[in-house]
Amino acid sequence: MIFADSPANILVVAAHPDDEVLGCGGTIARHADRGDHVDLLFLTDGVGARGESPVATVGARQEAAHAAAGILGAQTPQFLDFPDNRLDSVDLLDVIQAIEAVLAARPYDTVYTHWEGDLNIDHQVASRAVRTATRPVPGQSVRAVLSFEVPSSSEWAFSDVVPESPNFAVSIADQIDRKLAALDAYAMEMHDPPHPRSQEAVRALATWRGAQHGFAFAEAFTLVRAAHA
Ligand SMILES: [Zn+2]
Repeated sequence: MIFADSPANILVVAAHPDDEVLGCGGTIARHADRGDHVDLLFLTDGVGARGESPVATVGARQEAAHAAAGILGAQTPQFLDFPDNRLDSVDLLDVIQAIEAVLAARPYDTVYTHWEGDLNIDHQVASRAVRTATRPVPGQSVRAVLSFEVPSSSEWAFSDVVPESPNFAVSIADQIDRKLAALDAYAMEMHDPPHPRSQEAVRALATWRGAQHGFAFAEAFTLVRAAHA
């Protein structure tokens, strides 16, 4: 089970570079601290909708992802090249199969990904594709799937979507500083307060999620599926 067996093999499937830190950066560091193997998979390059120089910006985003992974203790990130903010233009099966190919390389037991109700379309597709790629058929190594919250996407979900109600929290009291340092690597994606994607707001969310569970700081997840073999 989550945080029980060690060393565990963890895969984080994020739509864009920076989602992994916003959603579960402290938890990544916590896994790394206990000797778990943490791989990061990014489905898009994260630059398509911004109108900047694609080549330079792809390089900058990937460089930031490498720097953030180093701070958190994760392995070298892997990048797929699906179109940013247009994941819904790709056949879902193609996304699923790309994720399945990564999952086949190692007996991952826990996968973190996006909440299905996020405003961002890429986040929605990532969540849906992971659910299928990790379906619990006989021989499936993945025993737990959790979805994380991403400030400026999860709380901006449409009103007809059932609000996210995280039911699993991880204390990141000893990892909050590394989470915020990893966010510094993505300075180009951050905003000034009171934007939800500011250092202040991210810290405040970690404080609130911690307060809900008796920790100084926490990250909160929705348990999508879990089973104990
Ligand atoms: Zn994103």
